Amino acid sequence: MTEKKIFVTQPHLPPLEEFIPYLEKIWDSKILTNGGPFHQQFETELVGHLGVNELALFANGTIALVTALQALRITGEVITTPFSFVATSHALLWNGVKPVFVDIDPDTLNMDPKRIEAAITPQTTAILAVHCYGHPCDVEAIQHIADTYNLRVIYDAAHAFGVEDAGGSILRHGDMSILSLHATKVFNTFEGGGVVCKDEKMKTRLDHLKNFGFVDETTVVAPGINGKMSEFNAALGVLQLKFIDDVISQRAAIDKRYRDGLAGVRGIRCVGFTGEMLPNYSYFPILVESDYPISRDALTERLRESGVSARRYFYPLISEFSMYRGLPSADRAHLPVATKRSQQVICLPIYPSLSDDVVDAVIRIIAEIAQKEQ
Ligand SMILES: *Cc1c(COP(=O)(O)O)cnc(C)c1O
Repeated sequence: MTEKKIFVTQPHLPPLEEFIPYLEKIWDSKILTNGGPFHQQFETELVGHLGVNELALFANGTIALVTALQALRITGEVITTPFSFVATSHALLWNGVKPVFVDIDPDTLNMDPKRIEAAITPQTTAILAVHCYGHPCDVEAIQHIADTYNLRVIYDAAHAFGVEDAGGSILRHGDMSILSLHATKVFNTFEGGGVVCKDEKMKTRLDHLKNFGFVDETTVVAPGINGKMSEFNAALGVLQLKFIDDVISQRAAIDKRYRDGLAGVRGIRCVGFTGEMLPNYSYFPILVESDYPISRDALTERLRESGVSARRYFYPLISEFSMYRGLPSADRAHLPVATKRSQQVICLPIYPSLSDDVVDAVIRIIAEIAQKEQ
């Protein structure tokens, strides 16, 4: 199909010459980190862009999540989803907290709120849900349960940069939402992360925690960590923000092309958006169902042979990894939907510079197998 390998994602970078003046400013000021001018500017602009109350920048999404759990003093057990990137549950283990997995909804692939109540014990302190592929969780049902049982709600919103529901940013829900600005995400600062929270008091606590607990030169109020974003990453963030609207509309066009092209293909289901929302088109997950002639793994292999690195994402489930497998809630029998979906899902390539020709070629490979091998 093509000589070049087609990756599942390719980071958006601004024109290099536009970044040079930012670097010159850093070289002039010699302020490299510790909440410098670009950090302040990026934080302010991001709050405005996302339409959230408060946001604390971090060095990456994982340290943001670990620190958010610290800031909320989460202990005991936390109810979470197995259908995510391992960092979601790893952040719980780093806090000495036990993950309790519940199954997912077969359509949205997000935590199924109907499964939460049965998983609550006297040790449960919080719900850690993921807006998987940027599709909003059932935030109202989750909040209702949290209010009934006095639990905290934390959203791993690593996939959900810029996603909105009818009321505004999806990041406003729960006690906190965590962003990742990693190279593979819709909006990247090479590495980076953020915690969205509701009020200034919590934002200040997060700022202390990400800087060793320092309040001033001689006062340390908590056993904090080093989670600070550098001036380099923050400067890049300021520049990247100028491109994000274009990036998302280019992704939207690719999403539509796939959806139209795959619509009639027997055995292939595109994971859809539900309800009134503004998506960010961060991933393009498809489900290879039982009436498709070959298995998900065989299709992945066929795509790879054609130079397309489609990824089985999320497979394996978090609950299948050795550090989780022993938990009672990690039993496959307890997670039938997540287990099934993890065996059906493939994420197709989607990124702004992906050409229509390549998208069409991917569609053709998938469609031809459905036609030929029935
Ligand atoms: C990428 C990702 C993370 C981790 O973010 P980093 O910035 O890479 O540390 C956490 N959770 C989910 C769901 C992710 O996709």
